Amino acid sequence: MSNKIEEIDCLIIGSGPAGYTAAIYAARADMKPVLYQGLQPGGQLTTTNEVENFPGYPDGITGPEMMIELQKQAERFDTVIRPGFIEKVDFTGPIHKCWADDGTEIHTKTVIISTGASAKYLGLPSEQKYLELGGGVSACAVCDGFFYKGQETVIVGAGDSACEEAHYLSKLCTKVTMLVRRDEFRASKIMADRVKRTPNIEILYNTETEEVLGDGQGVTGVRVKNNVTNEVSEIPCTGFFVAIGHKPNTDIFKDYINLDEVGYIKYEKPGTSLTNIPGVFVSGDAADKTYRQAVTAAGTGCIAALDAERYLSALEH
Ligand code: NDP
Repeated sequence: MSNKIEEIDCLIIGSGPAGYTAAIYAARADMKPVLYQGLQPGGQLTTTNEVENFPGYPDGITGPEMMIELQKQAERFDTVIRPGFIEKVDFTGPIHKCWADDGTEIHTKTVIISTGASAKYLGLPSEQKYLELGGGVSACAVCDGFFYKGQETVIVGAGDSACEEAHYLSKLCTKVTMLVRRDEFRASKIMADRVKRTPNIEILYNTETEEVLGDGQGVTGVRVKNNVTNEVSEIPCTGFFVAIGHKPNTDIFKDYINLDEVGYIKYEKPGTSLTNIPGVFVSGDAADKTYRQAVTAAGTGCIAALDAERYLSALEH
């Protein structure tokens, strides 16, 4: 690792709609932002198929296409975009220190955190085993559904994500079984209704996963239990999809930034992007457990860049 120290005004961590929007605003304000894209360049939207609810796209746009457009827009105003990730921070001094995996040590006056959130798993040993083997467990139907074309799959979850992914899988797979742990969906009515209307999606209510079954190489089925009747049954499948929500990507900040019990960053002042550390701002899903939309993330990215700009101006005067 080289020991390069780079001194800048604005570091943006993360490349979802929040990070890129912050970059567009910060670059246009001449803050010369440097943006590290993180482990999943483009963020969660790169795992979404059709985005129909982002204003300005009347015919919809795919998530990956939208992220390419946002990146291009940030680059148009000379944001420096790097593919690596920030692995450590030190927010104890007036200048914030951040270490990137490319060996760069960054000393920056402002930091905009846009690290988003990551998919959650059930945590069953059998699930983790086949996840690590790459043998049939996935948290992204749009990424991996293709591999199960013409096969049977199972998906866990009952939120909007689970409905969206189940519907996506239903177009590729012969049968999709959806495991809902309560007797109702959490998803919006329109999304749940679409799933209920799809002939090759079977919904099992009050049903929890006991074990992911496999032959040592890949998934062959799932053992499930009805939590009302205690009846145990096995569902044959080759793909097991998990769509049960997300965890904010905030671990590297936990020694400095105030987080809630789940790990979401707490705003120091509601209605702003301020954290408890002066010069460190937050945008997007890293601080949003309520709305979690691309458009709200973009909005908070804008707020964070404007707050960072005001902070920098105040330092100069
Ligand atoms: P949610 O938190 O909304 O839903 C998670 C689902 O997973 C719930 O049904 C929950 O069950 C279930 N679940 C959680 N843990 C377990 C477990 N251990 N075993 C079984 N089931 C479990 O997450 P989503 O990712 O679906 O959605 C996040 C946000 O993103 C929401 O605000 C949603 O509206 C939004 N979104 C919008 C989309 C769109 O508009 N196109 C698409 C996708 C997401 P329970 O209900 O019992 O708690």
